Amino acid sequence: MNAVQGHGVAVRIENCGKTFADGTHALEPATLDIARGETLVLLGPSGCGKTTMLRIIAGLEVPDAGGRVLFDGKDMTPVPIEQRNVGMVFQSYALFPNMSVSDNIGYGLKIRGVGKAERTRRIAELIELTNIGGLEHRRIDQLSGGQRQRVALARAVAIRPGILLLDEPLTALDAALRDRLRSELNRMLRALGITTIYVTHDQAEAMELGDRIVVMRKGAIAQIGVPRDIYFAPQSRFVAEFIGAANIIEAPLVNGHFVLPGGRLATGGSDNQARAVAMIRPETIQITHAEGAFLAGVIDSVGFSGDRQRIIVKDVSDKLLTIDAPNTIRAKAGERIGLSIAQDAIRLLPPDK
Ligand code: ADP
Ligand code: MG
Repeated sequence: MNAVQGHGVAVRIENCGKTFADGTHALEPATLDIARGETLVLLGPSGCGKTTMLRIIAGLEVPDAGGRVLFDGKDMTPVPIEQRNVGMVFQSYALFPNMSVSDNIGYGLKIRGVGKAERTRRIAELIELTNIGGLEHRRIDQLSGGQRQRVALARAVAIRPGILLLDEPLTALDAALRDRLRSELNRMLRALGITTIYVTHDQAEAMELGDRIVVMRKGAIAQIGVPRDIYFAPQSRFVAEFIGAANIIEAPLVNGHFVLPGGRLATGGSDNQARAVAMIRPETIQITHAEGAFLAGVIDSVGFSGDRQRIIVKDVSDKLLTIDAPNTIRAKAGERIGLSIAQDAIRLLPPDK
């Protein structure tokens, strides 16, 4: 993405750690640069420090000594939240329940002294962007969860913030609505083009929304990368297993070949290791005829799910292997099959992680 074209500020988090008063180490000192207009996703399991990092950026939390937050190179660390020009959306809506949708969206503009005509124009724009036309005069308590989150987003961006911070905004919604709103949110964030930091524990959300993803674990950054690299080139077992389904193979490596119960698997290298670890995504494994295959196994079960089928194979490696195959393949339990895996689909991992 071209940072120069984006809106909002460039953010730098420098050496920001957080130890709470009770001694909890919520965040190890971390340094992170977010380009103007970029959508950066903080992804990780509950309790890994995502919200703490977001709150430090917002100015709701002070980093430990030595930590700094910079917007466009300017040190914002001592600047209070109301002067940082941030827009925020949380899991719970924090809207004014008795006010109309329009008044909620226009609230920040009103307290900043923006005139009525300009307010009305801006509100209309945001109503259109967030697709809530017709609801302008409803009260918040007359809206569905999804509609409320649209209003919350519209309100957060009404003030033209330098940065938009979203903390699990879809988590409280039911699954079907969450999926729908996720793609809509993607469209809205692209249309806004504003620097955005998005917190979630949902890897599908992270993949779809993030220009880059920061995977966090126990208060530390495990990996930073574009979604494709996070998915196909995880640097640790933790990232591999947290992001989607992953086959983890542990076996001796002889001349660059994994020696498995079901045969040999070429990695493309020529390494020799007593025990190596690799990750293979289920959809990168092809099913072939068993005869003559370098690697073979027996189908343990087949789960047909309409758009694809998940095939579990035994006797290939030390664990069951998961394959996501096209729904057109005929496969049944007990059948012996060959497996073909492209070398670039095999990701060697450091063994200790
Ligand atoms: P996440 O958003 O990834 O779920 P948080 O940033 O909320 O994680 O929390 C990180 C860690 O810090 C957790 O162990 C949490 O219990 C702890 N924590 C959060 N806020 C406080 C606080 N005000 N005082 C003490 N510990 C806290
Ligand atoms: Mg949180």
